[in-house]
Amino acid sequence: MDIKEQINALSEEIFDSLSRLVRCDSQLSEEKPGMPFGEGPALALREALNIAEELGFHTVNLDNYCGYAEMGEGEDIIGIAGHLDIVPAGEGWHTDPFTMTKIGDRYYGRGTTDDKGPVIACLYAMKLLRDSGAALNKRVRLIMGCNEETGSRCMDHYNQVAEPLTLGFTPDGNFPCIYGEKGHMAMKAESKETKILDIHGGFVSNAVMPKCTVVIPSGEVTKKALEKALSETPLKSFSVTEGEGTLTIEAEGLAAHASTPLLGINAGGCTMQALADAGFRDDFVDFYNAHIGTKCDGSGCGLKCGDEYGDLTFNNGIIGMKDGKIFCTIDIRVPVTVKKEALLQGIEPYLDCKGGTFTVFGIGEPLFYPKDSPLVNALLSAYREVSKDTEHEPLVIGGGTYAKSLKGIIAFGPEKPDTDYRIHNADEFLIIPEYLESIEIYEKAIENLLAI
Ligand SMILES: [Zn+2]
Repeated sequence: MDIKEQINALSEEIFDSLSRLVRCDSQLSEEKPGMPFGEGPALALREALNIAEELGFHTVNLDNYCGYAEMGEGEDIIGIAGHLDIVPAGEGWHTDPFTMTKIGDRYYGRGTTDDKGPVIACLYAMKLLRDSGAALNKRVRLIMGCNEETGSRCMDHYNQVAEPLTLGFTPDGNFPCIYGEKGHMAMKAESKETKILDIHGGFVSNAVMPKCTVVIPSGEVTKKALEKALSETPLKSFSVTEGEGTLTIEAEGLAAHASTPLLGINAGGCTMQALADAGFRDDFVDFYNAHIGTKCDGSGCGLKCGDEYGDLTFNNGIIGMKDGKIFCTIDIRVPVTVKKEALLQGIEPYLDCKGGTFTVFGIGEPLFYPKDSPLVNALLSAYREVSKDTEHEPLVIGGGTYAKSLKGIIAFGPEKPDTDYRIHNADEFLIIPEYLESIEIYEKAIENLLAI
């Protein structure tokens, strides 16, 4: 049997293994003793390590931060790092997000593409390579993390307690491969005085805010004026309800990844715009519209910039209120050639404005591997050989992957060009023939890395 036939023969088992992981709701939850990210991620890790053991791999659980399955001998470690945690299922699914459901040539379920599917694909790629009798003169280690979506603290732990990788990849991005990742900058915006009584929206800082609810005192603007202003925004839906001395706006936009904010509709940003358009006069609303707004390019606060690899992006993911103060999370992706100093200089004049303030938490370094480096070559040639796609070039992206947390790796698959797999969204899916092909690509890639 050639490798394609072997993968086809295993496909039922492969999808059964994946469904065992999809079943675990592994979003970040409350910390418990021995479970730094809560029960869900720990459960998913246990199940993944069980599957790896059933396939005959040596496994290690690193304190429920992450774990790994390993084969081979030697000093060097070819590392593959995927994640088992997920973003919350959210609303709007047509199937149960935790039951892998086959419709046509797709499987639907949270994590099918991001990133449980690729973890299982790489595990079976390792199995196929091992069973083929290939010489394993290096170790091949599949690391499975439990905290990629909310800070990658799992990989901080890995770096503290486990051996560094020699070379490798994270199957948590795009094909052909990602040789550059923008730097990450995190900020917080806060109100000073505001007439807004309550506001909340969004659930993670690294996604476009899909919903927002705002309560304002009545008497300032009419329900009609608000409805008119809201109807002029790109919001998918909204409602205005009159209460006792209050008006409540509920707005629905569209989630998207923070690195591609223009693919989403920010419910908070649109609501702020509508409040101002309806005539609601408020220092914080003015601050928001002038300095955060909906352009997603940082132009309101001195950060707009770009280079040949891409422009800066700017996203307000969460808005909330605490002790009478409104706060907003700001997630910024910085072009790979832009220096930290330039950003700090740009934001300086806006740190303390009339209606609000910005606080810069940190600016992370970008990642950049030359296109002709052995790592990029090994991965790209595996992709091209198996997929026969020689048209698409390696990418630079705004998303931060594990490649930023672990030395020696870049992101490699599973998403193919021109398909929206709805990751971080309702109805996330994988495409069966493409998924099975990815196993072959990963097998070939490991083989190439072993040969370096
Ligand atoms: Zn992911």
